[in-house]
Amino acid sequence: MNLAALTLSDASDKLRRREFSSTELTEAVLQRIAATDDRVHAYLTLARDAAMAQARQADESLKREQTASPLLGIPIAVKDNFLTRGIRTTCASKILGDFMPPYDATTVAKLRSAGAVIVGKTNLDEFAMGSSAENSAFFPTRNPWNFERIPGGSSGGSAAAVAADQCIGALGTDTGGSIRQPAACCGVVGLKPTYGRVSRYGIIAFASSMDQVGPMTKDVRDSALLLQGIAGHDPADSTSVRLAVPNFAETLNGSVKGLRLGVPKEYFVSGMQPEVEQAVRNAIDTLANNGATIAEISLPHTEYAVAVYYIVATAEASSNLARYDGMRFGHRADAKDLTETYRVSRDEGFGAEVKRRIMLGTYVLSAGYYDAYYLKAQRVRTLIRQDFDEAFKRCDAILTPTAPTTAFKIGEKTQDPLQMYLSDIYTISINLAGLPAISLPCGFDGDSMPIGLQIIGNHFDESTVLRTAHAYEQATEWHKKKPKL
Ligand code: GLN
Repeated sequence: MNLAALTLSDASDKLRRREFSSTELTEAVLQRIAATDDRVHAYLTLARDAAMAQARQADESLKREQTASPLLGIPIAVKDNFLTRGIRTTCASKILGDFMPPYDATTVAKLRSAGAVIVGKTNLDEFAMGSSAENSAFFPTRNPWNFERIPGGSSGGSAAAVAADQCIGALGTDTGGSIRQPAACCGVVGLKPTYGRVSRYGIIAFASSMDQVGPMTKDVRDSALLLQGIAGHDPADSTSVRLAVPNFAETLNGSVKGLRLGVPKEYFVSGMQPEVEQAVRNAIDTLANNGATIAEISLPHTEYAVAVYYIVATAEASSNLARYDGMRFGHRADAKDLTETYRVSRDEGFGAEVKRRIMLGTYVLSAGYYDAYYLKAQRVRTLIRQDFDEAFKRCDAILTPTAPTTAFKIGEKTQDPLQMYLSDIYTISINLAGLPAISLPCGFDGDSMPIGLQIIGNHFDESTVLRTAHAYEQATEWHKKKPKL
């Protein structure tokens, strides 16, 4: 049996039945990484010894308790913008190149206390800014389906690691699509929960009003299980809500009977890859054939989403990234005085895209431009949210493509930031509105690259999102296809 290829739910059942130990499972995953990561480049840091120690501990717990979390003994990869105590955390930036966090992000602490095994830290676009993982200060990650292609971003390392069986599941973050778009590019399942469902404490902040942590997994059931392990109120994050967390796996009944699913007409526009449109339309038919009612809906302010996002996100980023000044942590340049130290440390430490965003963000917040840009964008953000409020009066979930194209070639869009920004045209509104959404595989294009279907839910209704996704997955075979490595 190829242990590294197992789903989380399978691995968890088999661990309980003693078919193998967590030590064996973790070893299999580490071997798989050793055999493939010189081509995929998904990991920035491996935590081999710590992982093996956690696995041995998990094996002890497994002997004692049969009722523990399904995450007990399961090897998980974590994006390198989560603080991990004792494991180097870089955010794929030179400015944090040798940063050793003194504490764990709440989500990482939750994984650890459930007995999960942290395998290592995955590559990303620097500070999670990008859609291709090419903005990493270290190296680009490659798409396991085709090494000439990007894995998507910013959680490209986590998506590639899941697709290449270099972990059983992974965590990512999503500010404008960074879980869902790479999931689509790599043919895996990625879920962005409702803003406030999962703690952001210990996540290196990019745009705090949109950042959210979520699971990246091999199938929808795994997504429910991993979400269960990280969701819930955290006193250390005032934006995490005090709301009971439902049992997500229980809602996976394989049926969409009686569900009303909306299809926004603004999401099928010229410029999208025809094979993507076809695959998504086929997926809509599949759900209709399985008993869902399909209704055309309208989200009239969709066309402003990318512009609004790149004002709000850059404004928040410019203030969040002010803390990297060479004084308290991270890279410090050797300079003659304080101002020079700030200036040179930041100049040497940040990459081009991060600098671009700091400048844009500083500009839209500056006196004289604040009203025209930042305030205006906040107002349009409200309109975008209201579009969804209206839509959810008529439907229970919304179906769209995850990205307008499949994974593009490495280098294809690096010279053209605007083209890169358009990769997120279908995911960004969801972050602006704070809604939950999943991406799952729904086909392949002519070059055998995976296509993603996005299912958007109402606030705190991850259950309907997961239920719809699961029913679609049950009716199709896409999630069983794997890249040959
Ligand atoms: N690609 C988007 C950006 O560059 C989203 C990134 C994200 O979700 N972290 O900002």
